[in-house]
Amino acid sequence: MALFSVKMRSSADGTHISGAERIVEKYEVPDVCAAMSKRAMTHGKGQPDAITVTVTAIDREVERIPALPIAEARCADTAEARDIVINALVPLTPHAAEAWNLLTTVRDMRGAILFHAPTGARLEPDHARGVRVTSMDAAIATGERPEAHSGKTRVTDALVLASKVAHHPAVLAEVCISDDPDYTTGYVASKKLGYLRVPNIKPDGSPVGGRLFVVDTDEPADLITFLEHTPVLVGEAE
Ligand code: AMP
Repeated sequence: MALFSVKMRSSADGTHISGAERIVEKYEVPDVCAAMSKRAMTHGKGQPDAITVTVTAIDREVERIPALPIAEARCADTAEARDIVINALVPLTPHAAEAWNLLTTVRDMRGAILFHAPTGARLEPDHARGVRVTSMDAAIATGERPEAHSGKTRVTDALVLASKVAHHPAVLAEVCISDDPDYTTGYVASKKLGYLRVPNIKPDGSPVGGRLFVVDTDEPADLITFLEHTPVLVGEAE
């Protein structure tokens, strides 16, 4: 079955406003293009003066993987959230506290930190940008996608990303804190833990945000290629 990648980015005066990506069947392409440009036109960040929608046939095998199961940690404040995250990382790296400190001090990265589990070194080639995970989507047909039913976009997109990331054998865990000052629920994810939502991972109104992947590889090139380029469709949790 031929699948297509549909990508959208919008900007105003050359400044990025929004972006989106879908992997869809041929018959869905026109509707997805329309829905994306509509969303771009009504984005809360402002009126774009340029919207680029790119449709590309995917000429390779698409990996189909299950979504991580979702669970929620109980934590009343940021101190408890920090403990949950660090306790999850302690079995994976002797540098768990450093990973937390790094994640809560970086700002304005577009991608994720690759944190080398054995040494705590950063492996991403560009520290300011990080590694951006792309080429992924939920496997359900457009109209039925959960985010079509208002208000669920964040979990769905994050779950798709986390499931792709956790699938790679070199990835031991991921920790995410949203950039959105009003969204204080982060997550820690791994094949073993699943997708563990962590409420109060940062104080309300805080601009802190970032992603960190704890990885065990000395040669991150293959991992980066997978994260950036291997098309992955994420289905229901098993
Ligand atoms: P968000 O959950 O969209 O607020 O993003 C939180 C942080 O995750 C951002 O500051 C980025 O550092 C990182 N991030 C966002 N999107 C991606 C992506 N596609 N791949 C890797 N890291 C990302």
